[in-house]
Amino acid sequence: MPELPEVETMVRGLRPAMIGSTIQKIELLDHFMIHGQTPEQISQALTNQSVLAIHRRGKWVLFEMQNGPVLVIEPRMTGGFWLINPDRPDQARLIFHTTTAPCKIWFCDTRRLGRIRLYDDLSQAQRSISMSQAEDALAITCMALAERLKKTSRTIKPVLMDQKVVSGIGNIYADEILFASRIHPEQVASSLKATEIRRIHAQIRPILERAIEAEGTSFDAGYRTVLGLEGGFLAINAMYGHGGEPCPACQTPIVKKQIRGLANRPTHYCPKCQTLPRSRNRNQS
Ligand SMILES: [Zn+2]
Repeated sequence: MPELPEVETMVRGLRPAMIGSTIQKIELLDHFMIHGQTPEQISQALTNQSVLAIHRRGKWVLFEMQNGPVLVIEPRMTGGFWLINPDRPDQARLIFHTTTAPCKIWFCDTRRLGRIRLYDDLSQAQRSISMSQAEDALAITCMALAERLKKTSRTIKPVLMDQKVVSGIGNIYADEILFASRIHPEQVASSLKATEIRRIHAQIRPILERAIEAEGTSFDAGYRTVLGLEGGFLAINAMYGHGGEPCPACQTPIVKKQIRGLANRPTHYCPKCQTLPRSRNRNQS
């Protein structure tokens, strides 16, 4: 958390407030989160720069300046942006001061797991991100996904959450995608048939787009939109947060459990709609 839909919601909220605006000052309040440069170097590179574009790649936000430099912020577990005074201003890690309203944009991060980094230009930033991130989940082809699934004997859910396989999917949306594809989360990835992989691939985009429309998922005090609102996806989703409730397709109670490779994060699935082909799994693992 946040995953692709939450970061996309942040980016869509930031764009009208920041694009075309000039950064008068940038306050870097937590040097621990800055990687690769000193706060002075970042401040010098961005002061008086106009914001040309704000991009998203997987779960990363890229602020591209008119004259080239790109500031990359990865919110990771608990990071988020605020266009209004944040609920917890003591957790502000970076503040942009800009020439147009709202004039102050905050980046807050409770657990300080996020990362801040500066690049010379967009292609350098993209190259660097590509070293740890596969294609964005909204852009990946079925062929690229199939190639990677074929090569691993891990189970499908942690593989879908592996950012080197596909970038942007985390615990919540992996459960939704696998339910919609009728694939058991513990099925070995390399045992999936081509038709099953096509089913998974076909569900990724529509599920993420529905979640973006709902402005993401807020299941605790963590994620909020840039205006401090909760995301609405938990009101319309099928699996995450619905353990023990009837499956929307067959009424069988939804199972919530820990699966191997995903410590401390619950997995939700329907034991009737998502069955495990045991012989196929045994042969492959
Ligand atoms: Zn079911």
